[in-house]
Amino acid sequence: MKNFLSILLTVLTVATTAHAKLNVVVTTPDLASIAKEIGGDRIELATLARPTEDPHFVDAKPSFIVKLNRADAVIEGGAELEIGWLPPLIDGARNTKLDSGKPGHIACNEGVQLLEVPSTLDRSKGDIHAAGNPHFMIDPVNAKIVARHIADSFCKLDPKSTDDYQANLKKFSDALDAKIAEWLKTLAPFKGQQIVGYHNSWPYFAERFGLKIDLFLEPKPGIPPSPSHLAELIGKMKANKIHVIMVDAYVNRKTAETVAQNTDAIVVDVSQFPGGLKGTEGGYIQLLDRVVNGLAKALGEKK
Ligand SMILES: [Zn+2]
Repeated sequence: MKNFLSILLTVLTVATTAHAKLNVVVTTPDLASIAKEIGGDRIELATLARPTEDPHFVDAKPSFIVKLNRADAVIEGGAELEIGWLPPLIDGARNTKLDSGKPGHIACNEGVQLLEVPSTLDRSKGDIHAAGNPHFMIDPVNAKIVARHIADSFCKLDPKSTDDYQANLKKFSDALDAKIAEWLKTLAPFKGQQIVGYHNSWPYFAERFGLKIDLFLEPKPGIPPSPSHLAELIGKMKANKIHVIMVDAYVNRKTAETVAQNTDAIVVDVSQFPGGLKGTEGGYIQLLDRVVNGLAKALGEKK
């Protein structure tokens, strides 16, 4: 009888596992959008950061630990983007599937060529991009690399759905290729133009689309704007005739507006995350559409 029960239990467990969806926890909404494109209805998805939240400083809730405890996989940006909040949550979740090096720990920076990697690691000045710039997802070519990485990881974790994941990857990559051609065309007339950012989140985007986004309201990534730094910035904006400032939803828009008033510039709302701007809840491609067209409009306005 005991043997029969144990066999029955094994059969039931196997049956449940065979039909269970992959339980995936994702740190930020851009990565979640890609995971959804690839996983479709084969995965159950939970996103930790809100689209209007600073990805470096996410408000960690106890419910995150519960989600991570039950997860088959965690997807993070990596390159220290989440270093300030994710490691203690993963430790607290006590889920060996998420151990670094396991297929259930998906670090999206793997395979991406990072920009601004410092030659020596130095956190002493408070720079939070100590491992290189972690905001690589806003370049759609990197989004394609990440999509392939996520698809390969899902195939390893759930081999039975490999055909679905590969088909979804192809569909997403093809759609993105068509859009990249369109976005390059939209921004082509503004090649070489300079834009001011708040935080240094845009070097990958700038490089892809031939823009210059190398002046920031923050004196260093993660260090709030100081009056002396802003005065210097205003001087440079006037000298170089820069008239567009991009701001993310989670930064202090008032500071950007003050600089704009002093320089006759336009403040353009942007986001790295689907849902960070109204009307971009549909996902990564919709977000990029909005950012590209918003910038093209601002750059095209005569000052
Ligand atoms: Zn950053």
